[in-house]
Amino acid sequence: YQRLRLILGDQLNAGHSWYQNVDCDTLYIIAELHQETDYVRHHVQKICAFFSAMEHFANGLRQLDFDVVHLTLDDTVRFNDLPDLLRHYCEQYQIQEFQYQLPDEYRLRRQLADFSRSLAIRYRAVSTEHFFIDDAQLSQHFESGKRHQMEAFYRKMRRRFNVLMQGDEPEGGLWNYDKDNRNKLKPDDLKTVPEPCMFANDVSDILTRLTRHQVQTLGEAQDRLLWPVNSQQSLELLEHFCRFCLPNFGTFQDAMTDKLDPFGEDKQWSLFHSRLSFSLNSKMLSPQEVIDRVVQCYQLNQAQISLSQVEGFVRQILGWREFIRGIYWANMPQYASLNTLQASRTLPDWFWTGKTQMRCLHHAISQSLLFAYAHHIQRLMITGNFCLIAGIDPNQVDAWYLGIYVDAIEWVELPNTRGMSQFADGGIVGSKAYAASGNYVNKMSDYCGDCHYEVREIDTDNACPLNALYWHFMSSNIDKFSANPRTRMVYANWQKKTAEQQTSILEKADQLLRRIDEV
Ligand code: FAD
Repeated sequence: YQRLRLILGDQLNAGHSWYQNVDCDTLYIIAELHQETDYVRHHVQKICAFFSAMEHFANGLRQLDFDVVHLTLDDTVRFNDLPDLLRHYCEQYQIQEFQYQLPDEYRLRRQLADFSRSLAIRYRAVSTEHFFIDDAQLSQHFESGKRHQMEAFYRKMRRRFNVLMQGDEPEGGLWNYDKDNRNKLKPDDLKTVPEPCMFANDVSDILTRLTRHQVQTLGEAQDRLLWPVNSQQSLELLEHFCRFCLPNFGTFQDAMTDKLDPFGEDKQWSLFHSRLSFSLNSKMLSPQEVIDRVVQCYQLNQAQISLSQVEGFVRQILGWREFIRGIYWANMPQYASLNTLQASRTLPDWFWTGKTQMRCLHHAISQSLLFAYAHHIQRLMITGNFCLIAGIDPNQVDAWYLGIYVDAIEWVELPNTRGMSQFADGGIVGSKAYAASGNYVNKMSDYCGDCHYEVREIDTDNACPLNALYWHFMSSNIDKFSANPRTRMVYANWQKKTAEQQTSILEKADQLLRRIDEV
């Protein structure tokens, strides 16, 4: 072979120009690696999903007559790391040119750039041909350390890629239907939640391999993996979403419930969310094809699917996903160590078990351990909010998020966690800290009614811990937030409390923080 082309586990884009023609001078390599299973403790389903999808991708290429080396942990255990493995294959086949697609993660981009420079042969890094904004164009939109507004970026993207536009104006006259997208699920609405589309991919070999190699994981293992592992299954999931979830996606986007039993007859648990993030982040689906299909379904079926549902979904992919990526690349590597609020507490142990009496946290964490998934508001306003108002060290928060979710890859996990949810970036991603008391949880979910704690109380023995922690957080950071128009009202309410009330609330918060492992 003359050329060696590396395919990383999140580069499973079958539409890439690499695969337009079969070329017998090119060898492709895709490998399970200890450096990838071990850089953080991952959910076992996440590793199974990636490894299985990689194997399917390699087999798919072989069927098209590409020459592919697919290596398992058994084959790669003798190599120290990825460069070591690549050097071996370059030598074995006397390769004259090494090629790779630009990794989306800083860690790997650095590693492969260093490796390439050390080679005595030619090398080339090419685009993954996945995102709307290519790497070369990112710096036109994002500047290091600067606060960017997602809404302004999103409007530019809608215009540039002509999505839901009528000429130069947004379809329907508005850019954003967020105000229609904040409904709680009432008992009658629960009956309309569709059964999720789940697969049953046999990953027993992978599980045995993980045990044989003593890979440390977290979460529930499943012999039959529910996550899609090839583009065909990913497209099925997309079709299921368009048919059953899209008509209500926006309306209940922020809603949360623990009244639907994942082990019940209908197994409902993922509400109206698409669960496409793994397919997108592994690049089995392209964001363009997802948006095209969703917009097409809306155009063909406006009687059932309203504009606010589709716009809400398009905003997540064309807006948030691309925006988050831009923030990551403009600010790495320093972004990974920002800690503006100087948070330093240890993550409570119950984050790894779900064993807390706060029903909202119990549900979000147990579901994450069970399925390697939680939807955006569970991540932002339940687990994220708790860590924010309890002042947990963002390094520990990042490690938890990076490990537990099937879709967690640093480029998208880090700005969402450290930035949006923990405000550790001082407001680069979002203009305010997403801090909330029990009141928000009660508004958006049905958790509080059956909770051990009382959501309307602040400083009594049985008060919802989120309330005192919220006021403690806001009052400790008054210097940082009081000038922000979005939090001015909060401080006005704090000032309305008597000095005794304030003292009692802050004492309650101190008590809670001292025994945070037991709440
Ligand atoms: P849906 O609700 O159906 O949304 C559709 C798609 O929009 C998603 O698949 C995703 O690709 C995209 N999207 C939506 N919101 C965001 C966002 N804020 N950033 C980027 N893309 C978005 N997403 C990840 O893909 N990987 C992560 O590691 C990750 N970590 C997160 C950590 C925190 C603390 C928070 C608050 C959010 C995080 N997100 C992450 C964003 C979001 O929560 C997930 O993309 C979403 O929950 C995935 O589920 P879904 O596919 O059902 O999404």
